[in-house]
Amino acid sequence: MENHTPSNFIKNIIMDDLKTGKHKEIITRFPPEPNGYLHIGHAKSICLNFGLADEFKGKTNLRFDDTNPVKEDTEYVESIKEDVKWLGFEWDDLYFASDYFDEMYKRAILLIKKGKAYVCDLSAEEIRTYRGTLKQPGKESPYRNRSIEENLTLFEKMKDGEFKDGEKVLRAKIDMASPNLNMRDPVIYRIAHATHHNTQDKWCLYPMYDFAHPLEDAIEDITHSICTLEFEDHRPLYDWVVKECEMESTPQQIEFARLDMTNTVMSKRKLKQLVDEGYVDGWDDPRMPTISGLRRRGFTPESIRNFAKEIGVSKSNSKVDYQMLEHFIREDLKLKAPRTMGILRPLKVVITNYPADEVEMLDAENNPENLEMGMRQIPFSREIYIEQEDFMENPPKKYFRLFPGNEVRLKHAYFITCNEVIKDEDGNVIEIHCTYDAKTKSGTGFTERKVKGTIHWVDAKNAIPAEFRLYEPLILDEDLTDEKTFLECVNPNSLEILNGFVEPNMKNVKGQDKFQFFRHGYFNVDSKYTTNERIVFNRIVSLKSSFKFNK
Ligand code: ATP
Ligand code: MG
Repeated sequence: MENHTPSNFIKNIIMDDLKTGKHKEIITRFPPEPNGYLHIGHAKSICLNFGLADEFKGKTNLRFDDTNPVKEDTEYVESIKEDVKWLGFEWDDLYFASDYFDEMYKRAILLIKKGKAYVCDLSAEEIRTYRGTLKQPGKESPYRNRSIEENLTLFEKMKDGEFKDGEKVLRAKIDMASPNLNMRDPVIYRIAHATHHNTQDKWCLYPMYDFAHPLEDAIEDITHSICTLEFEDHRPLYDWVVKECEMESTPQQIEFARLDMTNTVMSKRKLKQLVDEGYVDGWDDPRMPTISGLRRRGFTPESIRNFAKEIGVSKSNSKVDYQMLEHFIREDLKLKAPRTMGILRPLKVVITNYPADEVEMLDAENNPENLEMGMRQIPFSREIYIEQEDFMENPPKKYFRLFPGNEVRLKHAYFITCNEVIKDEDGNVIEIHCTYDAKTKSGTGFTERKVKGTIHWVDAKNAIPAEFRLYEPLILDEDLTDEKTFLECVNPNSLEILNGFVEPNMKNVKGQDKFQFFRHGYFNVDSKYTTNERIVFNRIVSLKSSFKFNK
């Protein structure tokens, strides 16, 4: 993997731990809940956890944190594995938190036996009221002082399915007056009669995140358990669980700021809503901030890793501009993607003085910034397509493209001059007639006249029809207010589909091939909709950004 990450506070902690001999080897983990597809925020966490382990020759586990049977699914498990691999990382061990259910259950019994946990009959609502507030201490549950024997019996009955969902919970017995609300006898087990994607119907008793997560980390000998800032207040509980459950290994929880980005949403719950309610065409819709969506849009693993490296890790939450991600894909594709010409909104041009049956082949570099990519030949003949926007009948000043009487350069070909405009009955321009000057052929060193405009084109007879999909942001941030839900801010114009033409040598492109279309930006061949009969291109990003990138 590429060179080292810049220094940050997590790296410093690890270097200290290795220096003082607290750990000989570090073990990190990436612990997604399989309740949706991974997004770019997860990519930040993946790059961080795997990156640190790579750098310090440690290990990283991929662990599915599957303790909530209702929302989890094997489809998500498979997609997560695929996305982590695609990003370029290999996990050392693959685990499911649900594989530890027996172990967790035993540790809960240990807590009960130590008088550190009790079965409580209060409803969820009552537990919330009893908990108190930041200003008010909580009130002890009337069930708090049940005997150890009674707790053991009741807990076993909970496991055996003798109670309904919500009828009883197991709570840690800590301190109802603690200034930290998480320490006021948190619920550590709840009843859920639901089929689990992994353990099926074996359990109807499931551990809560705050109990399960520290145990999972300790069981796997994780040294540094990196999570996002909202868990900072949970750290005392994390440490309490590890200690009171008498785990041999003591992982350290470290929090960092989660990634948030402009013009999108970054939560599996919200992304699932966009999918389920048909705002997008699946989790891998090219407008989605999911890893699978970014992949289909045409982002590369390198661009995402470089982005993650650049944003770094910090302790304060902030929003990253989406244009920063775009910067990294342009950088990555600049020398890799072949340049080609595509017409998104075609206008037919007839070159009236060009022989009717002649076709000549013209030379073009595949990438002028990377000559190693070689040359190709493109056909030229009497009829070509240009962009509608490259012609104006009555142009404003400083319009240097085609208009009646004006001469422009056709990229890789000749100078042409517009002589006649053909319109339909309604006055719409349907075709323009031009003449070319054979002396001006590209590459022959013609210098007698200069023209100000260069436009792109494709040969009409040989062009291949193609569909172009242009994207705008999915969420209009400027519409977001406290009164509106994110669904009300979904951009109704986030997708525009155009039918145009590409050069004939694009005949054999395949899904995920990437190109730079002259003047239009970088495009990716859509892997879902492209068939032998139809090529679909997704625009990854246009050529220029207004974003100021400090480097
Ligand atoms: P979501 O709300 O999108 O479901 P989550 O935090 O619940 O996010 P998990 O599946 O629990 O998702 O996350 C797996 C790992 O990815 C966790 O360690 C979590 O901290 C990290 N993670 C999730 N979202 C982000 C983000 N936006 N930025 C950085 N790390 C994130
Ligand atoms: Mg979650």
